[in-house]
Amino acid sequence: MTGKLAGKVALISGGTSGIGEATCELFVEEGAQVVLTGRSEAKGNALADRLGSANALYVKCDVTSDEDIRNSVEAAVERFGRLDVLFNNAGGPTGGGVLDVAADQIDYGVRLLLTSVMLTTRYAVPHMQANGGGSIINNSSIAGLRYRQGNIVYSVLKAAVSHYTRLAGVELGPLGIRVNTISPGAIATPIFWGGSARANTLPNAENERKMAKLQRNLAKATPTPRSGLAHDIAEAALYLASDAGSYVNCHDLVVDGGRTSMFFEPP
Ligand code: NAD
Repeated sequence: MTGKLAGKVALISGGTSGIGEATCELFVEEGAQVVLTGRSEAKGNALADRLGSANALYVKCDVTSDEDIRNSVEAAVERFGRLDVLFNNAGGPTGGGVLDVAADQIDYGVRLLLTSVMLTTRYAVPHMQANGGGSIINNSSIAGLRYRQGNIVYSVLKAAVSHYTRLAGVELGPLGIRVNTISPGAIATPIFWGGSARANTLPNAENERKMAKLQRNLAKATPTPRSGLAHDIAEAALYLASDAGSYVNCHDLVVDGGRTSMFFEPP
């Protein structure tokens, strides 16, 4: 086996679309065995087939369900015998602004974006400990760092994910487990038109048209004159997952083409 992740087993949530899908592809290319989770069985099984059954397994998991999360961790260890890398990637848009937020929007956002990260970590850690360590990567966002990069509920919860990551890294570091976030900037994925569940309902041609238009627009939104791509975040996850990142812990790796250094107009 060759590659930067040779011999490692990774669990990637929300692996059926966007950043998660690109990370599954790159991790397998780099020698990892990957368990990808998500809600769409059709997309998940198709991706696992494409990556090859020796390298990839799809497990159905809605990350708002405690039971699904626990099952996905157990399925990974059962299929590939160990767990080295966890990429808590699943997420999507939430509703709610400062003056019009509703309790159910907050509750749903917490379960989707924060509870999922904390519970998956809890279930994964004993398996990583059994191997002498591991790497946990949480997909946060520049919305947790700046105004108007997402709505209020989403932004506050991504900030919580980043802070949870720092605290968990302090606690788990002595066990050989590094915990880091990636904060992507504007990355061209279906999240911009309501998330992958909505993209699944649209014809391929419509998704391709939306993606091309999105990439043209995002190319104008950063100091780096091109759109952020899912592959850019997959490369950051590869660094944090691999031994190249073995001294990186409690860190927030911003991958945004310089967007957070730009001045944003007040409302
Ligand atoms: P995407 O919509 O292409 O992918 C999101 C994935 O999460 C999909 O597979 C989706 O099915 C899954 N998901 C959503 N809700 C789920 C649930 N309840 N249970 C299981 N899976 C669920 O979007 P993406 O841009 O690839 O998003 C991936 C992560 O990156 C998210 O956490 C998102 O908040 C974060 N992020 C994205 C950007 C961006 O600009 N695209 C920027 C910052 C952060």
